[in-house]
Amino acid sequence: MLPTESLLADFPILDQSIHGRRLVYLDNAATTQKPRTVLQASRHYYETLNANIHRGTHQLARMATEAFENSRQTVAAHLNAASADEVIFTSGTTGGINLVANILALSGRIGSGDEVLVSTLEHHSNIVPWQMLCQRTGATLKVIPCLDDGTLDQDAFHTLLGGRVKILALTWISNAFGTVNPVVEMTQAAHAAGALVLIDAAQAIAHLPIDVRGLGADFLAFSGHKVYAPTGIGVLWGRASLLNDLPPWQGGGEMIREVTFDHTTYNDLPFKYEAGTPNIEGAITLAAALDYVNGIGIDAIHAHENELIRSAAVALAGIAGIRLFGPAGRAGSLSYAIEGLHHYDIGTMLDHMGVAVRTGHHCCQPLMARFGMTGTVRASFALYNTLQDVETFATATQKAVAMLR
Ligand code: PLP
Repeated sequence: MLPTESLLADFPILDQSIHGRRLVYLDNAATTQKPRTVLQASRHYYETLNANIHRGTHQLARMATEAFENSRQTVAAHLNAASADEVIFTSGTTGGINLVANILALSGRIGSGDEVLVSTLEHHSNIVPWQMLCQRTGATLKVIPCLDDGTLDQDAFHTLLGGRVKILALTWISNAFGTVNPVVEMTQAAHAAGALVLIDAAQAIAHLPIDVRGLGADFLAFSGHKVYAPTGIGVLWGRASLLNDLPPWQGGGEMIREVTFDHTTYNDLPFKYEAGTPNIEGAITLAAALDYVNGIGIDAIHAHENELIRSAAVALAGIAGIRLFGPAGRAGSLSYAIEGLHHYDIGTMLDHMGVAVRTGHHCCQPLMARFGMTGTVRASFALYNTLQDVETFATATQKAVAMLR
């Protein structure tokens, strides 16, 4: 297990009481808390570096530009990208997926009669942009079904690939159930069928090592706030050979080479996809967050969280009427429902006992519908959670159930 006592000291927000109890924060799949190094990087940026980047001739603008571009290098190294030019700063996972859906539609690569393949496990962010693309282009959205254990039906996936699939858009880790999809194998199969692959790494970024070259996909999107950085910053990684061929989407400053009223020529990667002033402080603090994670080690974090999730599943198993969702090898999140009780009531009672969990559909309404649910109670874990947190959470659940019955 990780040395959580010293790690907890890195997260000032966790040192507080909620409703008179020590805060047990188990809503990390929604957003993570920020370590001091990230808070300090933000403060340092505004106290010493703040200037608009790339265009300035003055020293402060040069310093801000250097810090911003160094952050791109940090992200590229973290992802094992072939080049930092493949790292596009976005507002988050949603921003990255919408960017890809829009440039594919604009490029004409997806048209009437083509198919876009997503899975039942997807977050709305990896469904709705593709539905919108289908409405625009005349393509059809196809869905890989989910088995009762919360894993994807691989036989059905291979059958679906026999159609006219132009892109597979797949989550690496399900935010609702913690299911870890076999993304390498599924990417290879999709490529063999002639489809592009986008991986939604919104959850994976905080729990698994990511090597985009080893993964072999074409695009990968994540959000900074899921990995101890602030909200409003994210990354779209895309293969340079592909992005170079695809059209720009949003127009504005920085994405241009030359503008006249008759004609505009576009900038090279990554700037072609970064119109307007970016979230400079966000990029810098994202790099600080990745440095923090790498200082601990993502494999050690993953092992620690796995131990917590396994212990939580065991501790909850004895509760009468409980249903745990997802397979045994979950990552990040553990979802449950209790027969006859509403997830919202359980969540409210847990909150009163100082335990912050998420209840509801987790932005996965089609997945909830597949399991005949309107929602679940979800506990999601981060590097600073402890076995004591798991015990508090399980005991609070038992108490809530006893009081609600
Ligand atoms: N995809 C997954 C799997 C998620 O868990 C989330 C957020 O919970 C998103 C996409 C959307 O992320 P954001 O709202 O940061 O863009």
